[in-house]
Amino acid sequence: MEIGKYSFGIGDRFGHQGKAQLSALMKAKEAGIDIVPVWNKSNREHGIVGTSPEDVRKEADESVSSLGWTGEYYVDADHINLSNVDPYIEHSDFFTIDVADYISAPADPNQKNLFLEQNKKYIGQLRIPGIRKTYPITEELLSEIADKYLYATQKAAEIYRHIAGRKGAGKFIPEVSMDEVAEPQSPVELFFILGALAREKLPLKTIAPKFTGRFNKGVDYQGDPKQFEQEFEEDLLVIDLAIKVFGLPENLKLSVHSGSDKFSIYPVIGRLIKKYDKGIHVKTAGTTWLEEIIGLAAAGGEALALARKIYRTAFEKQEALCAPYAAVIDIHPEALPSPDAVDGWNSTKFADTLRHIPGHPDYNADFRQLIHVGYKVASELGDEYYRNLEKNAEIIGQNVEENIFERHIKRLFNL
Ligand SMILES: [Zn+2]
Repeated sequence: MEIGKYSFGIGDRFGHQGKAQLSALMKAKEAGIDIVPVWNKSNREHGIVGTSPEDVRKEADESVSSLGWTGEYYVDADHINLSNVDPYIEHSDFFTIDVADYISAPADPNQKNLFLEQNKKYIGQLRIPGIRKTYPITEELLSEIADKYLYATQKAAEIYRHIAGRKGAGKFIPEVSMDEVAEPQSPVELFFILGALAREKLPLKTIAPKFTGRFNKGVDYQGDPKQFEQEFEEDLLVIDLAIKVFGLPENLKLSVHSGSDKFSIYPVIGRLIKKYDKGIHVKTAGTTWLEEIIGLAAAGGEALALARKIYRTAFEKQEALCAPYAAVIDIHPEALPSPDAVDGWNSTKFADTLRHIPGHPDYNADFRQLIHVGYKVASELGDEYYRNLEKNAEIIGQNVEENIFERHIKRLFNL
């Protein structure tokens, strides 16, 4: 099974926007860019919303058949590990194998020795074709890399074999992710990680490293875009070399778990994948739920009142809502508007405060991040929330489509 050159991870917490998401990709196709849709939902989201992996499969299949999409598409078991993958196996055909929890756990000493032996030949100056500088590799460095990543690569392979044993090898796209960690992996680390995965015979199709900078949920990249650019370019070239020397699949590509809306680095990514004629997987995921709130606010009346109520509850429960996302959000509580003030906002003011238009005078990144992690509040409203989604499906759908096409795809592909 091969995945197309460009693919987008589209998350949809409440499962109502599959068609609007797909229609954004159809617009891209009309503009000459083929992007494979990958509906993804993590175990954490399923737990909070009360859905199951089967629901995502149904949504994807229904969206595809009702819009007459004839291209490939996938359903991603997002950030799974051995403890929670089983319910996904039947319904998914893309697996994001998350090894963050296994990083820095010690590998078996014999395995470590084998790793050092296998990589001894790289001691000295490592040259990566396309990069002018060379990378000094010492035995100490190899030992550090083994201590940090070897066990994680072995666990990735164990999870891969578990899935392949039930589903059949070649019947799914395996990704390995290590993005939800504190420290980025350097290009050199990525090289040896790829080598270790190749030796485990994991036919890796996409890899999601942690890049330099902050990838906070729902807001723009926080970091030095220049440094990101250099690192991203090095990673692309490292992958090329790893494909050659380790025999990894030819079309192995980088996966950027964007946490959505990394507008300032999309043009950088777009330029570099064009320069090297590379594919990319971009997970844009969760901001679809924010478009639901924007659509509700824009609809006015009862729907606007519901959006205000969700904000009020999220504001009151902010500590609990933020806790599971502490690593990927930065909210300044003093910059959050009071729920009483928000109750006085009209549709435009609410939508403009939430909608991610950098530079818009009303845009508030803190407000946006809090609502982003506040989907639990909507899920607890149950029917009341779903009823409003259905009643306002058209205006919400327009916002969902516009967000993915106008703000993500256009920036990434320079349309
Ligand atoms: Zn991720």
